[in-house]
Amino acid sequence: MEAIALRDVHVCYDAFVALDGVDLVVGQGQALGIVGPNGSGKSTLLKSIAGLLQPSSGSLCVLGTSPKSLEPGAIAYVPQVEAVDWSFPATVWDVVAMGRFPRIPFWRRFSRADREIVNHALEAVQMESLAKRHIAHLSGGQQQRVFLARALAQQPRLLLLDEPTTGVDHATEEALRLVVRDLVAQGMPVLMTTHDLDRVTEWFDLLCVMDRHILAFGTPEEVVDSGAYAAIREHTHTHGHLRHDHAPHEGHADHPEVRPI
Ligand code: ADP
Ligand code: MG
Repeated sequence: MEAIALRDVHVCYDAFVALDGVDLVVGQGQALGIVGPNGSGKSTLLKSIAGLLQPSSGSLCVLGTSPKSLEPGAIAYVPQVEAVDWSFPATVWDVVAMGRFPRIPFWRRFSRADREIVNHALEAVQMESLAKRHIAHLSGGQQQRVFLARALAQQPRLLLLDEPTTGVDHATEEALRLVVRDLVAQGMPVLMTTHDLDRVTEWFDLLCVMDRHILAFGTPEEVVDSGAYAAIREHTHTHGHLRHDHAPHEGHADHPEVRPI
């Protein structure tokens, strides 16, 4: 069974078409990297796969069904850190424990086994010593580690990560990568957006370049060798860290011409 299969998926914000005919297939035990300019629909794609946005047309099959038909907790979706209120009164441990909630039926208490799963998740990202810290007092790298630990505690069947490496130090990036590669080795499908194009061969089995639809798709080597990667890379180095995420209806006219491979 394919882990994810999208055919001609369109997603709109009112009249604005954010995804314009996305076709994508990812298998079990594959990590797919998603690159593209700001505003190209990367976050929209992950939210659609997570079942948070409804396509206006096309078919979207996740783990053999529609995202909303899956059991609670089947998909772990880790949003961009900017999308979260870090002043929310919670400790690192609380946030990671929240990953268990979709997995615990309402009649069952938080058990010793749940606590062990949370502790293991914290250990996997080397955050156990900061378990009692308030989340407002974390660095960007520590925030990403907490997010990934919460996703691990959820024990999902699909992991979606939105720019987990943006603004993190090298040690954190490597810690995240090792955790992700370990999950992939166990058969987990992982989709991850990124602006860090330099280490795509170490992170991913597959890479796609998108701008409202998929422009190039293949192994990281194939996509790196294609014009699509180079065009986006140039664009990213020029504009990659400007944040236009919530400026709707921004023009796409300046996006580079890229050739599908
Ligand atoms: P990316 O993650 O690649 O930067 P997004 O998926 O966040 O792109 O956004 C794609 C496009 O949709 C952008 O032009 C953005 O401004 C627009 N957009 C995103 N979220 C909304 C929203 N809630 N309402 C209206 N437009 C949105
Ligand atoms: Mg985004």
